[in-house]
Amino acid sequence: MNNSVLVVGSIAYDSVTTPSGIREHALGGSATYFSISASYFNQVSIVAVIGDDFLKKDLDLISRKGINTVDLQKVPGKTFRWKGSYNFGDLNQRETISTDLNVFADFKPILSTINQNVSCVFLANIDPELQLDVLEQMMIKPDISLLDSMNYWIDTKFESLEKVLKKINILILDVNEIKEFTSKTSVEEATKKIQETYGVEFIVVKNGEHGSTLWSNGLQFNAPPFKVTKIIDPTGAGDSFAGGFTGYLTKSGKIDLQTMKKAMIYGNTMGSFAVETFSIDRLLDLTNEEIENRAKNIMAKSSL
Ligand code: AMP
Repeated sequence: MNNSVLVVGSIAYDSVTTPSGIREHALGGSATYFSISASYFNQVSIVAVIGDDFLKKDLDLISRKGINTVDLQKVPGKTFRWKGSYNFGDLNQRETISTDLNVFADFKPILSTINQNVSCVFLANIDPELQLDVLEQMMIKPDISLLDSMNYWIDTKFESLEKVLKKINILILDVNEIKEFTSKTSVEEATKKIQETYGVEFIVVKNGEHGSTLWSNGLQFNAPPFKVTKIIDPTGAGDSFAGGFTGYLTKSGKIDLQTMKKAMIYGNTMGSFAVETFSIDRLLDLTNEEIENRAKNIMAKSSL
C-alpha cells in the first residue's frame, strides 16, 4: 500500500472581496489549498481537472510543492471559477456570488494504479458524485477516508452526499454547514445525528477564528485557534486546516485519539497561515520552524 494522500477536489480561479480588498482570478480551489498545506507533512497526489486557460505559472507552482499531478487532467474549456464576498462585520459569514463549474461539469476522474492503492483519501469539497466515483475506483479500502463539503452541495446533491457519508470515517465540516446538513441548531445534536445515521467515527467541526472541535462518541476535544494579527482573506482556511490535519495524521501513521488531537492542532496551524494573505500566497514558502512554533503556541493553550 502507498502511504501518500490522494485528494479529489476543485482547482479554481477565485474572485474574492473582503474588508482588506478585492482579489480577482487568483489561484484557489479546495484541492489546491489542501494539497499545498498537506505537502509540508506528506506526499500528496491530486485528482482534478483544469481548463486550457490554466496558467503555466500556476501549474509550475503546484509541481514545485512536490504535488503529484499524474491524475490531474487538462481539457479544452474554462477552469472552475468561484466568486465570494465576506460579511464585513463577521468574517465567518460569506456569500457565494457565483459558482461556475466549467470543466468540472463533465469531469470523469480516472485513477492511475499508484493512486488506486493509497492508504488515505481526502474527498475535498466538490460534487459528491465525483467523490463517490473516486472511492469506487480504489483497489483496497483506504485506512483513512475523510470528507469535506459545503452548502452548495448540501443544497443541490444531498442524497449523493449521504451515500459518501456512509463510506468515510472522518467528516470535516464548518459549524454552519453541519447545522444545515442535519437541520439541528446545536452542534452536539448534529454530530450525534451524523454518528447514528451514517456511522461516521470522527467528526471535526471548524469554527473559523474560534478554532475547531473533534467529536467522537460523546468525547469532545477543543483545539484553540492561533490568533493572527489581521485576517486578510478567510478563503481556503478550511481546506488548509484539512491539509494540516490529514498530513500530520498520515505522517504519524496512527489514528488513535491522541494523534487525532495533535492533528487538530496542526490543522488550526495551517488554517491560520492561509488567512494571512489573499489566495495561497502565505502557504507557499513556510518553514518547518514557523509551522512548529505556531503549533507549539496552540498546543500550550490546549488541554493536551
Ligand atoms: P474554504 O474557504 O476552505 O471553504 O474553501 C474555499 C475554496 O473552495 C475556494 O478556493 C473555492 O474555489 C472552492 N469552492 C467554492 N465553492 C465550491 C464548490 N461548490 N465546489 C468545490 N469547490 C468550491
